[in-house]
Amino acid sequence: MRKPMRLMLCQLGVQYRSFGSGQPHLSVPLALGYLVSGLDAAGLLQSCRVKILGPDFSLYAADAAIISEILKYRPAVVGFSCYCWNIRRTLFIASGLKAQQPDIFIVLGGPEATENSGDILSKHPYISAVVRGEGEEAFPRLIARLLEDNLPVGIPGLSIRLPDAVHHSPQLAYVTDIGRYPSPYEKGYLDIGRYGSLNIETVRGCIFHCDYCYYPKQFTRIRAFDLDRLKREVKLAAKAGISKGYLMDPVFNLPGRVGPLCRAIADGNEQGQISFQTEARAELIRRETAELFYLANIRSVEIGLQTTNRAALRHINRTFSPGSFSRAVETLQKAGIHVRVGIITGLPGDRIIDVEHTLDFLMELGIEDIQCFLLQVLPGTRLRARAGELGLVYMPEPPYYIIQNRELSEEEIHLVYSYARKRIRLLSHKEPYSPDLTMGRAEVGLYGVNSISSRIDDSGGGG
Ligand code: SF4
Repeated sequence: MRKPMRLMLCQLGVQYRSFGSGQPHLSVPLALGYLVSGLDAAGLLQSCRVKILGPDFSLYAADAAIISEILKYRPAVVGFSCYCWNIRRTLFIASGLKAQQPDIFIVLGGPEATENSGDILSKHPYISAVVRGEGEEAFPRLIARLLEDNLPVGIPGLSIRLPDAVHHSPQLAYVTDIGRYPSPYEKGYLDIGRYGSLNIETVRGCIFHCDYCYYPKQFTRIRAFDLDRLKREVKLAAKAGISKGYLMDPVFNLPGRVGPLCRAIADGNEQGQISFQTEARAELIRRETAELFYLANIRSVEIGLQTTNRAALRHINRTFSPGSFSRAVETLQKAGIHVRVGIITGLPGDRIIDVEHTLDFLMELGIEDIQCFLLQVLPGTRLRARAGELGLVYMPEPPYYIIQNRELSEEEIHLVYSYARKRIRLLSHKEPYSPDLTMGRAEVGLYGVNSISSRIDDSGGGG
């Protein structure tokens, strides 16, 4: 009888303390858990031994330690889930693996690999294949072919480099019934107690179309996970002693969804042991919404504002009503729910004065928790497609930060980002703000601008 094929799945963590919070990310490799669920649904787990690289390695270990840990497992196939924050390191580690074990089959997936599959396969000969889009179907089909010793060509959603050329199969149709794949938490493919927080995807897809966001491009329709499954997962996490949960759902408080979702969460979280955080649309928050949030022990809500400037909002296909935003914040705060608001600097149409107005608006509302992001012009987004028309100059490589736009020079982009962050920092420390226009590149530091400039100078200009 043939020995089981050994698969190692990896998702390298965020290496910089950025993306607004200033905290290191303890990312739960949910995408990898889904891949194991896909192998399970395809009946392949009897023929494979699968290991997910643990957080000690994916988050904290040095490159050499990660390579050695992966090779120690003696995998025939290594899969990496790729995002803009880990693609470079993933490629570096993949090349190290191939150098030490030339017969290894390395496959990439995730948004960053999906959008750049042609480039990745043609420029990086140590990468064998790229799964484009959702992996639950295409990845098991790839493994099934490898188990049969057949060439994995013609698998929908797969790009593969063969000796003659790179072959791209047509895109895989959306998985309509996502409930068909078992919960990776319930099956124990992801240890629910290991990551310190329960991350749950309650839906896949979004009905909104913010031009800077890749998500609607990736998932053009929404598919919800079963409420019973949600309830069981919450119960399991509570039993495992988890006290924090994050609900990944950009349409959480759509009318008709929020009630059943909150009741299912409350049923699973009977003792109120897990305190949840979620995203919400301000214009859809009513008193009943806040009551439902409270029932589900949702104690923190993130609202994306990005800017109050209508010209910039038009450019990114978003709307804003000061009245409904203020009412939403007040309603949540009255219900004892913490409000965190996200803003983006470097948006097309946003001048320095507009960022000041956005911050003034939030501070007048008494919001103390503001996350400030520097615009990323991500591959595959509408904003990227319109970059020329909007005069956007951005890093050609991840993380694709904006360098310059029509309103702001490179220097001003630095200034406005550091201004916003300094003002937010002073607010959270309750220190008075006094404008300091000497702030500049040094303030921005690791968050990108100095390094952006040098990398762009090296590469001869933004895209
Ligand atoms: S930013 Fe959020 S609301 Fe906008 S399209 Fe992306 S996921 Fe949807």
